[in-house]
Amino acid sequence: MAGRLWLYTNYHCNLACTYCLTESAPRARRRLLDPEVAVELAREAAALGFTSLGITGGEPFLLPRLPELLRQLAGILPLVVLSNATLFTDRLLARLTPLAGMDVAVQISLDSAEAEVNDGLRAEHNFAAVIAAIPRLRDIGLRVRIATTAEHLGDQARARLCALHRSLGVGDEDHVVRPVVRRGRAAGRGMGVPVTAADLPAELTITADGAFWSPFGPTVRDGRLDTDLLLTRTTRPLSLPAAAMLRVVEGRPPGEDASLGIR
Ligand code: SF4
Repeated sequence: MAGRLWLYTNYHCNLACTYCLTESAPRARRRLLDPEVAVELAREAAALGFTSLGITGGEPFLLPRLPELLRQLAGILPLVVLSNATLFTDRLLARLTPLAGMDVAVQISLDSAEAEVNDGLRAEHNFAAVIAAIPRLRDIGLRVRIATTAEHLGDQARARLCALHRSLGVGDEDHVVRPVVRRGRAAGRGMGVPVTAADLPAELTITADGAFWSPFGPTVRDGRLDTDLLLTRTTRPLSLPAAAMLRVVEGRPPGEDASLGIR
């Protein structure tokens, strides 16, 4: 079983972005994935042939023991951890230093080269925090990727954004641009593009609530978990949800494949 296994570590966040798929916010329901379970899932994933891990939330770095958990997980499989980059204090960076040299990337959200555009979507002063964090993460030896979520990104806006990430030492191979997906808070605001399972690559995703088809599956709308992309509530052993996903893949008509290229 090739590919990446996604783990949602938590659903709360210090921000509350306009298009957030999980309606994350400081007081959102946390839906915590037990760190010990995360490590067991990573071991099972490696044994099943998964080739990497994705760690997401919510904001994973709100978890007090995340640096140590990342170190354990990165000892099992290469990983990318998604973050809003607003929590990297000197103390936290020092705790992340052991990750240098491991196959770990921190994927940071940055939606525009213009602070007011980025901050209007995400949070006041977010642009400045992100621009400050990137060189600091790179200085301690971590690979930084940038993810841009955009409803409309014109050629000139994209060129300015790419010039900015290159100036920060992040190459084109580490910049991903994806559309706003009409789920979660984006759906409530009428933002983004509607998606179905057919638009989303099969990427097994485990949360405290179950196993989902894609990291775009376990979204939250009006406080309730979306279950249209739920594969099974059973997450362990991992071979069970993996088999459930394979059955769906095998049941698809030939040629029907993800068309949106969201990740
Ligand atoms: S999009 Fe990310 S940073 Fe923004 S509220 Fe949601 S989880 Fe937090």
